[in-house]
Amino acid sequence: MEKVIIIRYAEMHLKGKNRGWFERLFSVNLEKSLKGIRHEIRRQSGRYLVENFNESDTDFITDKLSKVFGIHSYSVGLKVKAEMEEIFKAAQAVAGSYGTFKVDTHRADKTFPLNSMQINSELGGRMLEANANLSVDVHNPSFVINVDVRENGAALVFNEFIKGAGGMPVGSSGKGLLLISGGIDSPVAGHMIAKRGMSLDCLHFHSYPYTNLQAKEKVIELTRKLSEYSCGTKLNVVSVTHIQEEIHKKCNGEYMVTLLRRFMMRIAEKIAEKCGAQCIVTGESLAQVASQTIEGMTSSNSVIERLPVLRPLCGFDKNEIIERSKAIGTYETSIEPYEDCCTVFLPKHPVTRPKLADVLKEEEKLDVDFLVKEAIGTVEEINL
Ligand code: ATP
Ligand code: MG
Repeated sequence: MEKVIIIRYAEMHLKGKNRGWFERLFSVNLEKSLKGIRHEIRRQSGRYLVENFNESDTDFITDKLSKVFGIHSYSVGLKVKAEMEEIFKAAQAVAGSYGTFKVDTHRADKTFPLNSMQINSELGGRMLEANANLSVDVHNPSFVINVDVRENGAALVFNEFIKGAGGMPVGSSGKGLLLISGGIDSPVAGHMIAKRGMSLDCLHFHSYPYTNLQAKEKVIELTRKLSEYSCGTKLNVVSVTHIQEEIHKKCNGEYMVTLLRRFMMRIAEKIAEKCGAQCIVTGESLAQVASQTIEGMTSSNSVIERLPVLRPLCGFDKNEIIERSKAIGTYETSIEPYEDCCTVFLPKHPVTRPKLADVLKEEEKLDVDFLVKEAIGTVEEINL
């Protein structure tokens, strides 16, 4: 009797002749997520089995697997020889000691002497005989004994189908560059896009020494947490200190955020192209704050020359985003109180509905190309 984890995958079966490619990618992602933990992964028709791990690592492994996109569900169970006596022993091991139960059998091996109905009743009968505190309730049991008789002479016995992360295997939908601040929203945006199969590099802008080093550490931690979902990521850190000083010195202060956003987008597009990203991803949500009006987005979007900008949170309310950030485990880090570069030199009354013509007039006062090039020169790359 061996403890195993059964992994069932999600949407991949939709992909027709690309299926082989998807499955290989999925296996690579599974291996990445379990790197450094003793285990073996075996493919079986329509599922994967994690075997040969230390039982004490079970929770650690399932925590890792719960973050792998493409997993539809998984189960922790026992693998035994496909013989009734062995299946019975495994069923006893996964069963509760009292309460109601039902047996639910799936028989892939059609040569097994009993069919699934017969296995259900034979096994149910034996369970009742062995423990007087158990009774059968097929409609609302307190636990289920699932039996899966495989083609290769093995049977899997387990209680639960645990819902997986869903989505598509990371890497199956190209690569994006996520603009990650220290806030709540951008990690959630990255998670959503990774869920659709996009691998991510990240880009963070800081204004050191106006922002402190803890602000950067916080973003590194957020990116590290995100990387558990995105199968690793590279964080690019760029200084916009000089850009902000120049805007502060030469332009109408009300345009600080608007102008800074345009610089961020220009730099992002250049860095995206350098790292092979096919789009830019932001955590913007329509009308959430002053800079996220449609006019603000128009202004920052208009400097982008080639790449699409994905804003997966555009239609979400803040409390929906907060819920998601709690669910993915980034919330606690996001609410640490370090200053973001956008709050440096922030005017009392930032312009909320910037007219593009006015923005351009302010921007004329700056040597945009030089400042962009200079900022890109400060890039620091951190692999997570
Ligand atoms: P977040 O919670 O992600 O910070 P927010 O609601 O605070 O979002 P803004 O600060 O206006 O909104 O930022 C909007 C988006 O712009 C962010 O989600 C992020 O994608 C990008 N962004 C803002 N500041 C930075 C930064 N310092 N570095 C990288 N990207 C940034
Ligand atoms: Mg922010």
